[in-house]
Amino acid sequence: MKKKQIAILGSTGSIGTQALQVIEEHPDRYEVYALTANNRVEELIGQARQFRPEAVVIANEQCYPRLKEALADLPIKVYAGADAISQVVESGPIDIVLTAMVGYAGLRPTMNAIRAGKTIALANKETMVVAGELINSLARQYHTPILPVDSEHSAIFQCLEAQNPVEKLILTASGGPFRTFSKQQLAHVTKEQALKHPNWSMGAKITIDSASMMNKGFEVIEAKWLFGVRPEQIEVVVHPQSVIHSMVEFEDGAVKAQLGVPDMRLPIQYAFSFPQRLPSSFGRLDFMQCHELTFEAPDTDRFRNLALAYEALHQGGNMPCIVNAANEVAVAAFLADRLSFLGMSEVIEQTMQRVAFVATPSYEDYVATDAEARRMAEELLATPGQGCLHR
Ligand code: NAD
Ligand code: MG
Repeated sequence: MKKKQIAILGSTGSIGTQALQVIEEHPDRYEVYALTANNRVEELIGQARQFRPEAVVIANEQCYPRLKEALADLPIKVYAGADAISQVVESGPIDIVLTAMVGYAGLRPTMNAIRAGKTIALANKETMVVAGELINSLARQYHTPILPVDSEHSAIFQCLEAQNPVEKLILTASGGPFRTFSKQQLAHVTKEQALKHPNWSMGAKITIDSASMMNKGFEVIEAKWLFGVRPEQIEVVVHPQSVIHSMVEFEDGAVKAQLGVPDMRLPIQYAFSFPQRLPSSFGRLDFMQCHELTFEAPDTDRFRNLALAYEALHQGGNMPCIVNAANEVAVAAFLADRLSFLGMSEVIEQTMQRVAFVATPSYEDYVATDAEARRMAEELLATPGQGCLHR
């Protein structure tokens, strides 16, 4: 059997390293063709020496000399810079591109990989949030499959039946570390508290997004584009145990759910192996330990971001792109102690009101919108006297 050649964008991150574990479990099926990272050059060197890809790329060009020197004894091509990441995905032998980098930076390489006909294993949800319509039209034009890695979307994908349309998609949400906090308490939470997710260990940005529920808002948008449903057909249910990863309701009222331990290696592996399932050594669900599965409605008053994401979804156009850019700025500011937890929603909402709306954006419009929304959000951060903006 010919081994599938995999490129991992963001191989040093949480998803990236788990993807390498999946590949290690199936050396007869998968081979690493390319690895890319942002800054963590020593980790990238270690991965390259172990997995012997054809190519490695580091986004930060200052790290290039170190990377080049450390791999000089191996026949590995070494590149640096964002353009190189966007180009490496087009390499002939690659079968699957796992987009495990974080944020808007994933958009351009994902578009290139789609144009080159590479199957996309989509972890980088921001790409779908920013430009879902454009990504879908490219994928149709180039007949490129996009397979979900996000656990909720993988769950839905595993529940779908080709012949039967869905009535509703039910996205489960853990509720994050602040599920039971009052608004008063939320006003004073710290980044250390926000970085402690109860059920999942993930990169810093998505962990903050999970605490603020922006992650769930993004997943609603991601679900619309991945599964072609209307916003009213997507429901969010808070399920603190994270055992049910999401559900599909069909037209006769039947509901299918996908359950499992919270372990991203399963959805990563399924995106690689689809339509097959492969054996795995990952943990198994023990029902005797699942004493209760509970469900509650999300509270968009305490978690404004979820409401803002729904609003962006309804408005469409470049509005989700604006929300994504403002959120990236707000999360970075929160992590740098420049902004309070609730201040993040303020910055996002005000940025949404100030950046020009474009109903049917082109790629160039998304690029301009992203830059303008970042500039606006930074300006709001720098404006004194913005109430709860500052701690
Ligand atoms: P992470 O922060 O742990 O890792 C990010 C990776 O991307 C690193 O390898 C980093 O070097 C690289 N990277 C970051 N910025 C970059 C840039 N500008 N250019 C090039 N490379 C860059 O993040 P993560 O938790 O692995 O998440 C990755 C993506 O997967 C995100 O879009 C996230 O929303 C999504 N996702 C993650 C999880 C999870 O369990 N971690 C679950 C679902 C979806
Ligand atoms: Mg998810």
